[in-house]
Amino acid sequence: MQLHGWGRFPGVTAELLEPPTRESIQKLFGTKKKHGPMIPRGAGRSYGDSSLADTVLSSRFLDSFLEFNATTGIIKCGAGVSMGALLTVIIPEGFFAPVLPGTKFVSIGGAIAADIHGKNHHTDGSFCDHVRSFSLLLSSGEIIQCSRDENRDAFLATCGGMGLTGIIINATISLHKVSSVFIKRNSIVAKDLDDCMDLIDQNEDSKHSFAWLDCLARGKSLGRSILHLADHCADGLQQPKSRVSLSVPFGTPGFFLNRFSNKLFNNAIYEMWKHRKNPSIVNYDSYFFPLDNIRNWNRLYGSKGFLQYQFVMPSSSAREGIREILKIVSESSTGSFISVLKKFGNANQNLLSFPTAGYTLALDFKNEPSVFPLLSKLDEVLLAHGGRLYLAKDSRMSEDVFKAAYPNWERFVEIKKTLDPSNTFVSHQSMRLGLTQ
Ligand SMILES: Cc1cc2nc3c(=O)[nH]c(=O)nc-3n(C[C@H](O)[C@H](O)[C@H](O)COP(=O)(O)OP(=O)(O)OC[C@H]3O[C@@H](n4cnc5c(N)ncnc54)[C@H](O)[C@@H]3O)c2cc1C
Repeated sequence: MQLHGWGRFPGVTAELLEPPTRESIQKLFGTKKKHGPMIPRGAGRSYGDSSLADTVLSSRFLDSFLEFNATTGIIKCGAGVSMGALLTVIIPEGFFAPVLPGTKFVSIGGAIAADIHGKNHHTDGSFCDHVRSFSLLLSSGEIIQCSRDENRDAFLATCGGMGLTGIIINATISLHKVSSVFIKRNSIVAKDLDDCMDLIDQNEDSKHSFAWLDCLARGKSLGRSILHLADHCADGLQQPKSRVSLSVPFGTPGFFLNRFSNKLFNNAIYEMWKHRKNPSIVNYDSYFFPLDNIRNWNRLYGSKGFLQYQFVMPSSSAREGIREILKIVSESSTGSFISVLKKFGNANQNLLSFPTAGYTLALDFKNEPSVFPLLSKLDEVLLAHGGRLYLAKDSRMSEDVFKAAYPNWERFVEIKKTLDPSNTFVSHQSMRLGLTQ
Protein backbone atom coordinates (compact mmCIF):
# COMPACT_ATOMS: atom_id res chain seq x y z
CA MET A 1 0.00 0.00 0.00
CA GLN A 2 0.99 3.69 -0.32
CA LEU A 3 2.19 5.21 2.96
CA HIS A 4 3.54 8.60 3.97
CA GLY A 5 4.04 10.70 7.08
CA TRP A 6 2.13 13.81 8.03
CA GLY A 7 3.99 15.94 5.44
CA ARG A 8 2.79 13.54 2.70
CA PHE A 9 6.37 13.57 1.40
CA PRO A 10 7.93 11.18 0.66
CA GLY A 11 5.30 8.62 -0.25
CA VAL A 12 6.40 4.98 -0.47
CA THR A 13 4.93 1.63 -1.31
CA ALA A 14 5.14 -0.55 1.79
CA GLU A 15 3.78 -3.71 3.30
CA LEU A 16 1.82 -2.69 6.41
CA LEU A 17 1.63 -5.32 9.16
CA GLU A 18 -1.10 -4.73 11.72
CA PRO A 19 -0.79 -7.47 14.33
CA PRO A 20 -3.76 -7.19 16.68
CA THR A 21 -2.03 -8.26 19.92
CA ARG A 22 1.31 -8.10 21.67
CA GLU A 23 1.65 -11.89 21.25
CA SER A 24 1.10 -11.67 17.51
CA ILE A 25 3.73 -8.94 17.25
CA GLN A 26 6.16 -11.10 19.24
CA LYS A 27 5.53 -14.09 16.95
CA LEU A 28 6.96 -12.12 14.03
CA PHE A 29 10.38 -12.25 15.63
CA GLY A 30 12.61 -14.88 17.17
CA THR A 31 15.17 -17.32 15.97
CA LYS A 32 13.39 -18.15 12.72
CA LYS A 33 13.07 -14.64 11.36
CA LYS A 34 9.90 -14.38 9.33
CA HIS A 35 10.44 -10.87 8.05
CA GLY A 36 13.14 -8.69 6.58
CA PRO A 37 13.92 -5.16 7.76
CA MET A 38 11.00 -3.19 9.15
CA ILE A 39 10.17 -0.13 11.24
CA PRO A 40 7.49 0.38 13.88
CA ARG A 41 4.80 2.98 13.23
CA GLY A 42 2.42 4.61 15.67
CA ALA A 43 -0.08 7.20 14.43
CA GLY A 44 2.03 8.31 11.44
CA ARG A 45 2.26 11.90 12.70
CA SER A 46 5.98 12.28 12.13
CA TYR A 47 6.38 14.42 9.04
CA GLY A 48 8.93 12.62 6.89
CA ASP A 49 10.23 9.08 6.51
CA SER A 50 11.05 8.03 10.07
CA SER A 51 8.16 5.58 10.19
CA LEU A 52 8.53 4.45 6.57
CA ALA A 53 10.28 1.31 5.29
CA ASP A 54 9.51 -1.49 2.86
CA THR A 55 7.79 -3.23 5.78
CA VAL A 56 6.04 -1.18 8.45
CA LEU A 57 4.73 -2.65 11.67
CA SER A 58 1.83 -0.81 13.25
CA SER A 59 1.67 -0.63 17.04
CA ARG A 60 -1.75 0.98 17.08
CA PHE A 61 -3.48 -2.08 18.53
CA LEU A 62 -1.37 -1.88 21.68
CA ASP A 63 -4.03 0.49 22.97
CA SER A 64 -4.88 -0.79 26.46
CA PHE A 65 -4.60 1.02 29.76
CA LEU A 66 -2.82 -1.39 32.11
CA GLU A 67 -2.45 0.33 35.52
CA PHE A 68 -3.24 3.73 36.98
CA ASN A 69 -2.48 4.95 40.49
CA ALA A 70 -4.67 8.00 41.06
CA THR A 71 -2.68 8.92 44.19
CA THR A 72 0.79 8.99 42.66
CA GLY A 73 -0.30 9.86 39.11
CA ILE A 74 1.68 7.00 37.59
CA ILE A 75 0.09 5.30 34.62
CA LYS A 76 1.04 2.24 32.55
CA CYS A 77 -0.43 1.90 29.08
CA GLY A 78 0.16 0.30 25.69
CA ALA A 79 2.42 2.08 23.20
CA GLY A 80 -0.47 2.43 20.75
CA VAL A 81 -2.58 4.54 23.13
CA SER A 82 -3.04 8.03 21.70
CA MET A 83 -2.27 11.20 23.63
CA GLY A 84 -5.93 12.18 23.25
CA ALA A 85 -7.13 8.90 24.79
CA LEU A 86 -4.65 9.31 27.63
CA LEU A 87 -6.01 12.80 28.41
CA THR A 88 -9.58 11.54 28.40
CA VAL A 89 -8.72 8.96 31.06
CA ILE A 90 -6.52 11.08 33.34
CA ILE A 91 -8.22 14.49 33.34
CA PRO A 92 -11.23 13.43 35.45
CA GLU A 93 -8.69 12.20 38.04
CA GLY A 94 -7.01 15.63 38.17
CA PHE A 95 -3.95 14.73 36.08
CA PHE A 96 -2.50 16.01 32.82
CA ALA A 97 0.12 14.76 30.38
CA PRO A 98 3.55 16.09 31.43
CA VAL A 99 4.40 17.09 27.85
CA LEU A 100 2.08 17.64 24.88
CA PRO A 101 2.97 18.07 21.22
CA GLY A 102 0.90 20.26 18.87
CA THR A 103 -1.52 17.42 18.11
CA LYS A 104 -3.26 14.90 20.32
CA PHE A 105 -3.20 12.29 17.54
CA VAL A 106 0.24 10.87 18.38
CA SER A 107 0.81 7.52 20.04
CA ILE A 108 2.75 7.02 23.28
CA GLY A 109 5.26 4.84 21.37
CA GLY A 110 5.80 7.64 18.86
CA ALA A 111 6.11 10.19 21.69
CA ILE A 112 8.90 8.13 23.28
CA ALA A 113 10.66 7.27 20.02
CA ALA A 114 10.85 10.98 19.09
CA ASP A 115 11.25 12.14 22.74
CA ILE A 116 8.74 14.84 21.92
CA HIS A 117 8.79 18.32 23.43
CA GLY A 118 5.94 20.65 24.27
CA LYS A 119 5.42 24.32 24.97
CA ASN A 120 6.84 23.69 28.46
CA HIS A 121 10.29 22.31 27.62
CA HIS A 122 11.94 25.22 29.42
CA THR A 123 10.18 24.20 32.66
CA ASP A 124 9.54 20.45 32.36
CA GLY A 125 11.94 18.96 29.82
CA SER A 126 10.82 16.51 27.16
CA PHE A 127 8.40 13.57 27.22
CA CYS A 128 10.96 10.88 28.08
CA ASP A 129 12.03 12.83 31.18
CA HIS A 130 8.67 11.68 32.58
CA VAL A 131 8.88 8.08 31.35
CA ARG A 132 9.83 5.81 34.23
CA SER A 133 10.20 2.61 32.23
CA PHE A 134 9.01 0.72 29.17
CA SER A 135 9.00 -2.79 27.71
CA LEU A 136 10.98 -3.14 24.51
CA LEU A 137 10.53 -6.03 22.08
CA LEU A 138 13.87 -6.81 20.46
CA SER A 139 14.42 -8.38 17.06
CA SER A 140 15.42 -11.60 18.88
CA GLY A 141 11.84 -11.88 20.16
CA GLU A 142 12.92 -11.13 23.75
CA ILE A 143 11.12 -8.41 25.70
CA ILE A 144 13.33 -6.36 28.02
CA GLN A 145 12.42 -3.79 30.67
CA CYS A 146 14.18 -0.47 30.25
CA SER A 147 14.56 2.40 32.71
CA ARG A 148 17.32 4.70 33.90
CA ASP A 149 18.45 1.87 36.25
CA GLU A 150 17.68 -1.27 34.23
CA ASN A 151 19.10 -1.68 30.71
CA ARG A 152 20.09 1.96 30.88
CA ASP A 153 21.84 2.00 27.51
CA ALA A 154 18.73 0.63 25.81
CA PHE A 155 16.66 3.30 27.59
CA LEU A 156 18.92 6.17 26.47
CA ALA A 157 19.06 4.89 22.90
CA THR A 158 15.33 4.14 22.56
CA CYS A 159 14.14 7.50 23.97
CA GLY A 160 14.49 9.65 20.86
CA GLY A 161 15.81 6.62 18.92
CA MET A 162 13.13 6.76 16.20
CA GLY A 163 12.09 3.09 16.45
CA LEU A 164 15.53 1.74 15.54
CA THR A 165 16.20 -0.29 18.70
CA GLY A 166 12.98 -2.32 18.89
CA ILE A 167 9.25 -2.04 19.43
CA ILE A 168 8.04 -0.25 22.54
CA ILE A 169 5.19 -2.38 23.83
CA ASN A 170 4.04 -0.41 26.86
CA ALA A 171 5.29 2.42 29.05
CA THR A 172 4.98 3.71 32.60
CA ILE A 173 4.69 7.49 32.77
CA SER A 174 4.56 10.04 35.61
CA LEU A 175 1.71 12.47 35.11
CA HIS A 176 1.32 16.04 36.33
CA LYS A 177 -1.29 16.95 38.91
CA VAL A 178 -3.37 19.93 37.76
CA SER A 179 -6.14 21.92 39.35
CA SER A 180 -7.71 22.81 36.02
CA VAL A 181 -7.58 21.91 32.38
CA PHE A 182 -8.58 25.43 31.46
CA ILE A 183 -5.76 27.67 30.41
CA LYS A 184 -5.20 31.32 31.21
CA ARG A 185 -3.54 32.83 28.16
CA ASN A 186 -1.80 36.15 27.66
CA SER A 187 -0.89 37.06 24.11
CA ILE A 188 1.71 39.77 23.58
CA VAL A 189 2.63 41.48 20.34
CA ALA A 190 6.36 41.56 19.56
CA LYS A 191 7.45 44.06 16.92
CA ASP A 192 10.50 42.11 15.74
CA LEU A 193 12.69 39.11 16.52
CA ASP A 194 14.73 40.74 19.29
CA ASP A 195 11.57 41.99 20.96
CA CYS A 196 10.08 38.49 20.78
CA MET A 197 13.17 36.80 22.22
CA ASP A 198 13.45 39.40 24.98
CA LEU A 199 9.82 38.79 25.91
CA ILE A 200 10.32 35.01 25.91
CA ASP A 201 13.34 35.41 28.23
CA GLN A 202 11.48 37.79 30.54
CA ASN A 203 8.50 35.43 30.85
CA GLU A 204 10.24 32.14 31.55
CA ASP A 205 7.98 31.54 34.56
CA SER A 206 5.03 30.94 32.26
CA LYS A 207 4.61 27.20 31.96
CA HIS A 208 3.44 26.82 28.38
CA SER A 209 4.77 29.40 25.96
CA PHE A 210 5.36 29.72 22.25
CA ALA A 211 5.45 32.48 19.66
CA TRP A 212 3.69 32.49 16.32
CA LEU A 213 5.99 34.29 13.92
CA ASP A 214 5.22 36.10 10.66
CA CYS A 215 8.07 34.69 8.64
CA LEU A 216 7.24 36.81 5.59
CA ALA A 217 7.81 40.09 7.43
CA ARG A 218 10.97 41.86 6.28
CA GLY A 219 13.23 44.77 7.20
CA LYS A 220 12.48 46.37 10.55
CA SER A 221 9.55 43.98 11.09
CA LEU A 222 11.62 40.83 10.55
CA GLY A 223 10.48 38.30 13.15
CA ARG A 224 7.37 40.21 14.23
CA SER A 225 5.32 37.80 16.25
CA ILE A 226 2.67 37.05 18.83
CA LEU A 227 3.96 35.46 22.02
CA HIS A 228 1.44 33.28 23.85
CA LEU A 229 2.04 32.70 27.56
CA ALA A 230 -0.14 30.26 29.42
CA ASP A 231 -0.70 28.56 32.76
CA HIS A 232 -3.40 26.28 34.10
CA CYS A 233 -6.33 28.02 35.80
CA ALA A 234 -7.05 27.44 39.48
CA ASP A 235 -10.08 25.21 38.98
CA GLY A 236 -12.14 23.39 36.34
CA LEU A 237 -11.46 19.73 35.78
CA GLN A 238 -14.37 18.84 33.55
CA GLN A 239 -13.59 17.95 29.94
CA PRO A 240 -14.30 20.93 27.71
CA LYS A 241 -16.97 20.46 25.06
CA SER A 242 -15.55 18.96 21.90
CA ARG A 243 -14.92 21.46 19.12
CA VAL A 244 -16.62 21.46 15.76
CA SER A 245 -14.30 19.79 13.33
CA LEU A 246 -13.73 20.80 9.69
CA SER A 247 -12.02 18.64 7.13
CA VAL A 248 -9.83 19.50 4.14
CA PRO A 249 -10.98 17.42 1.15
CA PHE A 250 -8.77 15.07 -0.84
CA GLY A 251 -7.43 16.64 -4.00
CA THR A 252 -7.16 20.19 -2.63
CA PRO A 253 -5.00 21.87 -5.30
CA GLY A 254 -1.44 22.80 -4.41
CA PHE A 255 -1.86 26.38 -5.67
CA PHE A 256 -4.26 27.00 -2.77
CA LEU A 257 -1.25 27.95 -0.64
CA ASN A 258 1.12 30.35 -2.34
CA ARG A 259 3.19 33.37 -1.41
CA PHE A 260 0.19 35.66 -1.83
CA SER A 261 -2.23 33.63 0.32
CA ASN A 262 0.56 33.08 2.89
CA LYS A 263 1.08 36.82 3.17
CA LEU A 264 -2.63 37.47 3.54
CA PHE A 265 -2.89 34.75 6.17
CA ASN A 266 0.12 35.94 8.16
CA ASN A 267 -1.07 39.57 8.09
CA ALA A 268 -4.57 38.58 9.15
CA ILE A 269 -3.28 36.52 12.08
CA TYR A 270 -1.01 39.34 13.24
CA GLU A 271 -3.80 41.93 13.09
CA MET A 272 -6.28 39.62 14.77
CA TRP A 273 -4.05 38.94 17.79
CA LYS A 274 -3.04 42.58 18.13
CA HIS A 275 -6.60 43.40 19.11
CA ARG A 276 -7.39 40.46 21.40
CA LYS A 277 -8.04 41.16 25.09
CA ASN A 278 -5.79 39.72 27.78
CA PRO A 279 -5.94 37.43 29.60
CA SER A 280 -8.33 34.98 27.99
CA ILE A 281 -9.49 31.65 29.38
CA VAL A 282 -9.45 28.84 26.83
CA ASN A 283 -9.79 25.11 27.06
CA TYR A 284 -6.64 23.03 26.85
CA ASP A 285 -7.68 21.48 23.58
CA SER A 286 -7.72 24.75 21.65
CA TYR A 287 -4.52 26.02 23.28
CA PHE A 288 -2.42 22.90 22.79
CA PHE A 289 -3.95 21.49 19.62
CA PRO A 290 -5.13 24.51 17.58
CA LEU A 291 -5.02 22.66 14.26
CA ASP A 292 -6.57 19.38 15.37
CA ASN A 293 -10.09 20.46 14.55
CA ILE A 294 -9.16 21.02 10.91
CA ARG A 295 -8.92 17.37 9.99
CA ASN A 296 -6.30 16.60 7.34
CA TRP A 297 -4.99 20.16 7.21
CA ASN A 298 -1.86 18.63 5.69
CA ARG A 299 -3.80 18.29 2.41
CA LEU A 300 -3.83 22.08 2.08
CA TYR A 301 -0.37 21.86 0.51
CA GLY A 302 -1.63 19.82 -2.41
CA SER A 303 -0.80 16.32 -3.56
CA LYS A 304 3.00 16.74 -3.35
CA GLY A 305 2.80 17.54 0.33
CA PHE A 306 5.10 19.74 2.39
CA LEU A 307 8.25 19.71 4.47
CA GLN A 308 8.76 21.05 7.94
CA TYR A 309 12.13 22.50 8.81
CA GLN A 310 12.39 22.48 12.61
CA PHE A 311 15.73 23.30 14.13
CA VAL A 312 17.21 24.27 17.48
CA MET A 313 20.11 26.69 17.94
CA PRO A 314 22.02 27.21 21.18
CA SER A 315 21.14 30.36 23.14
CA SER A 316 24.56 31.90 22.45
CA SER A 317 24.10 31.97 18.66
CA ALA A 318 20.31 31.80 18.26
CA ARG A 319 19.55 35.49 17.79
CA GLU A 320 22.05 35.92 15.01
CA GLY A 321 21.37 32.53 13.43
CA ILE A 322 17.58 32.76 13.47
CA ARG A 323 17.73 36.28 12.05
CA GLU A 324 19.88 35.01 9.18
CA ILE A 325 17.47 32.13 8.51
CA LEU A 326 14.43 34.41 8.58
CA LYS A 327 16.09 36.80 6.16
CA ILE A 328 16.80 34.01 3.69
CA VAL A 329 13.24 32.67 3.99
CA SER A 330 11.53 36.05 3.71
CA GLU A 331 13.59 36.89 0.61
CA SER A 332 12.92 33.54 -1.04
CA SER A 333 9.87 33.00 -3.17
CA THR A 334 8.74 30.29 -0.75
CA GLY A 335 7.23 31.43 2.51
CA SER A 336 6.29 29.38 5.53
CA PHE A 337 2.56 29.24 6.22
CA ILE A 338 2.92 28.55 9.93
CA SER A 339 6.09 29.39 11.89
CA VAL A 340 6.53 28.70 15.58
CA LEU A 341 9.34 29.78 17.91
CA LYS A 342 9.91 28.24 21.36
CA LYS A 343 12.57 28.25 24.03
CA PHE A 344 14.12 24.97 25.17
CA GLY A 345 15.62 24.18 28.56
CA ASN A 346 18.62 21.88 29.01
CA ALA A 347 19.21 18.72 26.99
CA ASN A 348 18.77 15.30 28.62
CA GLN A 349 21.11 12.30 28.24
CA ASN A 350 19.21 10.46 25.51
CA LEU A 351 21.53 9.87 22.59
CA LEU A 352 19.41 11.19 19.72
CA SER A 353 16.94 13.49 21.50
CA PHE A 354 16.47 16.77 19.70
CA PRO A 355 16.12 19.48 22.38
CA THR A 356 19.19 21.36 23.62
CA ALA A 357 19.25 24.63 25.56
CA GLY A 358 18.34 27.37 23.10
CA TYR A 359 15.56 28.30 20.72
CA THR A 360 13.68 26.15 18.27
CA LEU A 361 11.95 27.44 15.16
CA ALA A 362 9.60 25.36 12.97
CA LEU A 363 8.92 26.45 9.39
CA ASP A 364 6.62 24.74 6.87
CA PHE A 365 7.34 24.72 3.14
CA LYS A 366 5.23 23.44 0.29
CA ASN A 367 7.05 20.67 -1.57
CA GLU A 368 8.29 22.28 -4.77
CA PRO A 369 11.67 22.05 -6.50
CA SER A 370 12.95 25.43 -5.23
CA VAL A 371 12.58 24.30 -1.61
CA PHE A 372 15.41 21.77 -1.64
CA PRO A 373 18.24 24.19 -2.51
CA LEU A 374 16.72 26.71 -0.09
CA LEU A 375 16.78 24.20 2.77
CA SER A 376 20.36 23.17 1.93
CA LYS A 377 21.31 26.84 2.26
CA LEU A 378 19.55 26.96 5.64
CA ASP A 379 21.49 23.83 6.70
CA GLU A 380 24.76 25.71 6.19
CA VAL A 381 23.59 28.59 8.39
CA LEU A 382 22.30 26.11 10.94
CA LEU A 383 25.57 24.17 11.24
CA ALA A 384 27.59 27.39 11.36
CA HIS A 385 25.55 28.35 14.42
CA GLY A 386 25.80 24.97 16.16
CA GLY A 387 22.20 23.93 15.50
CA ARG A 388 20.46 20.70 14.58
CA LEU A 389 17.26 19.51 12.88
CA TYR A 390 14.46 17.49 14.50
CA LEU A 391 14.39 13.89 13.24
CA ALA A 392 10.61 13.60 13.67
CA LYS A 393 10.09 16.41 11.17
CA ASP A 394 12.87 15.56 8.76
CA SER A 395 12.48 14.10 5.28
CA ARG A 396 15.58 15.33 3.42
CA MET A 397 18.54 16.05 5.73
CA SER A 398 21.88 14.70 4.45
CA GLU A 399 24.01 12.20 6.35
CA ASP A 400 26.78 14.80 6.74
CA VAL A 401 24.48 17.41 8.25
CA PHE A 402 23.01 14.84 10.63
CA LYS A 403 26.36 13.48 11.80
CA ALA A 404 27.82 16.95 12.30
CA ALA A 405 24.88 17.97 14.47
CA TYR A 406 24.25 14.81 16.53
CA PRO A 407 27.60 13.99 18.18
CA ASN A 408 26.24 10.88 19.95
CA TRP A 409 25.29 9.08 16.74
CA GLU A 410 28.28 6.66 16.96
CA ARG A 411 27.41 5.61 20.52
CA PHE A 412 23.83 5.12 19.33
CA VAL A 413 24.96 2.82 16.52
CA GLU A 414 27.10 0.78 18.97
CA ILE A 415 24.10 0.24 21.27
CA LYS A 416 21.79 -0.53 18.36
CA LYS A 417 24.20 -3.28 17.25
CA THR A 418 23.94 -4.97 20.65
CA LEU A 419 20.14 -4.68 20.77
CA ASP A 420 19.46 -5.44 17.11
CA PRO A 421 22.43 -7.43 15.74
CA SER A 422 20.39 -8.60 12.75
CA ASN A 423 19.72 -4.94 11.80
CA THR A 424 15.99 -5.62 11.60
CA PHE A 425 14.79 -2.14 12.52
CA VAL A 426 15.56 0.11 9.59
CA SER A 427 13.66 3.09 8.18
CA HIS A 428 14.12 5.10 4.99
CA GLN A 429 15.32 7.90 7.24
CA SER A 430 17.89 5.76 9.08
CA MET A 431 19.38 4.64 5.75
CA ARG A 432 19.51 8.19 4.43
CA LEU A 433 21.25 9.38 7.61
CA GLY A 434 23.77 6.55 7.68
CA LEU A 435 22.46 5.10 10.96
CA THR A 436 21.72 1.76 9.28
CA GLN A 437 22.47 0.13 5.96
C1 LIG B 1 0.32 18.84 13.85
C2 LIG B 1 1.54 18.25 14.49
C3 LIG B 1 2.14 18.93 15.54
C4 LIG B 1 3.27 18.40 16.15
N1 LIG B 1 3.81 19.09 17.20
C5 LIG B 1 4.90 18.60 17.82
C6 LIG B 1 5.46 19.26 18.94
O1 LIG B 1 4.98 20.31 19.38
N2 LIG B 1 6.54 18.69 19.54
C7 LIG B 1 7.08 17.52 19.09
O2 LIG B 1 8.07 17.07 19.68
N3 LIG B 1 6.58 16.87 18.03
C8 LIG B 1 5.50 17.38 17.40
N4 LIG B 1 4.96 16.70 16.33
C9 LIG B 1 5.62 15.48 15.86
C10 LIG B 1 5.11 14.23 16.60
O3 LIG B 1 4.90 14.48 17.95
C11 LIG B 1 6.13 13.11 16.48
O4 LIG B 1 6.48 12.89 15.15
C12 LIG B 1 5.65 11.78 17.07
O5 LIG B 1 6.72 10.87 16.99
C13 LIG B 1 4.46 11.24 16.33
O6 LIG B 1 4.00 10.07 16.97
P1 LIG B 1 3.31 8.91 16.10
O7 LIG B 1 2.66 7.98 17.04
O8 LIG B 1 2.47 9.51 15.06
O9 LIG B 1 4.61 8.23 15.50
P2 LIG B 1 4.95 7.82 13.98
O10 LIG B 1 4.95 9.03 13.14
O11 LIG B 1 4.11 6.68 13.58
O12 LIG B 1 6.46 7.33 14.21
C14 LIG B 1 7.44 8.27 14.63
C15 LIG B 1 8.68 7.50 15.08
O13 LIG B 1 8.33 6.73 16.23
C16 LIG B 1 8.66 5.37 16.03
N5 LIG B 1 7.65 4.57 16.74
C17 LIG B 1 6.30 4.71 16.71
N6 LIG B 1 5.73 3.80 17.51
C18 LIG B 1 6.73 3.07 18.06
C19 LIG B 1 6.78 1.96 18.95
N7 LIG B 1 5.68 1.40 19.46
N8 LIG B 1 7.99 1.47 19.28
C20 LIG B 1 9.15 2.01 18.79
N9 LIG B 1 9.15 3.05 17.95
C21 LIG B 1 7.96 3.58 17.59
C22 LIG B 1 8.60 5.17 14.52
O14 LIG B 1 9.41 4.09 14.10
C23 LIG B 1 9.15 6.50 14.03
O15 LIG B 1 10.55 6.50 14.01
C24 LIG B 1 3.82 17.18 15.70
C25 LIG B 1 3.22 16.49 14.64
C26 LIG B 1 2.08 17.02 14.04
C27 LIG B 1 1.44 16.28 12.91
